Amino acid sequence: MRAETAEGTGPGQPRELTPGQEAVLRELMAWGGERPTFDALLAVRLRDVMEGQLAPVADRLGRHELVVAKQGLSGVLQCERQWLAGEQGRFSWTLRTAGGTVAHRAIALGLFTRNDPAPVELVDGALERIIEEGHDWSPAGFLAGMGPAELAELRGEATAQVQGFMTCFPPLGRSWRPAVEARIRVDLCGDRVVLKGKVDLALGQPAGTQARVLIIDLKAARPFRTHIDDLRYYALLETIRTGVPPFRVASFYLDSGRWQQEDVTEAALLTAARRVVDGVRRMVELRIDGRPPTLGPGPGCAFCAERAECPGPERWQAELSSAGGGLGGAQEGVGDEAAPVAVLVQERRQSGAD
Ligand code: SF4
Repeated sequence: MRAETAEGTGPGQPRELTPGQEAVLRELMAWGGERPTFDALLAVRLRDVMEGQLAPVADRLGRHELVVAKQGLSGVLQCERQWLAGEQGRFSWTLRTAGGTVAHRAIALGLFTRNDPAPVELVDGALERIIEEGHDWSPAGFLAGMGPAELAELRGEATAQVQGFMTCFPPLGRSWRPAVEARIRVDLCGDRVVLKGKVDLALGQPAGTQARVLIIDLKAARPFRTHIDDLRYYALLETIRTGVPPFRVASFYLDSGRWQQEDVTEAALLTAARRVVDGVRRMVELRIDGRPPTLGPGPGCAFCAERAECPGPERWQAELSSAGGGLGGAQEGVGDEAAPVAVLVQERRQSGAD
């Protein structure tokens, strides 16, 4: 892997940046930094690995098509029973999940709107668009049925997220090739296994075999260890789609302005490819072969629609107790937290090492 210096113009508008925006530009975007090049056949090798290992599984699918997205993949690897319940239509929107979708849409609108609308205007525009479109996979129905108080709460939540993005990110210039909510699709095994993803924000474009794309997943939640798996999944899809990996992937937490990032390597992509194989294999066993699901007790039990009838929460509590408080943080929902890179960066800066 060879490293070269990135080139390009600076931030899109001549606006003075806040220290937070400067940190994003310098540390997350690595402005003016080195960009790696990758083997031109890497995408082919990754596809071969997945298709080779999935061939027997795809045969069992027959004429069915299995569509895989990041939530399903994480879900089936975390708790098969919960994944299966979601597959059987027991998913329901909440104020928080719908608010996140509205905020993402509002941010997308904001990036491509010529005037300078306030965050709340963007949120209202996004709400209107989502309800108007009325897609059954979107929160359109949920939003349309909300009362005034609930809707006001959702608008407040979404507006705070949009405001968080605007104050943390430098204005994005057109030369950065920003793409929001960009859909990626990879067909495997004669189109019987379809991997799908929707990238919140991608900046840049590859040049030859030089990686120059930064993929950012915007999060309203706190850091969780599975977020890095989601990022690697996006990196894998992007690599197979364009033939060149992104140079970096990151989860950006809108309420704190922090992020965790990973520079993409062949090893990380291979790990992501094996994870896809593992997840797809489980999905086919559960859906096609009818294998009974296993349980994956964990912090997620607290929010699971199955919890009233499932022994998982009790087992998770027993695990916490037998750990003697060693997993105590998980009880408060922080046990799954990964070490956010931005915190490390902040600490270095405070100590004068940066
Ligand atoms: S309650 Fe926990 S173990 Fe049971 S299905 Fe939900 S996440 Fe899985």
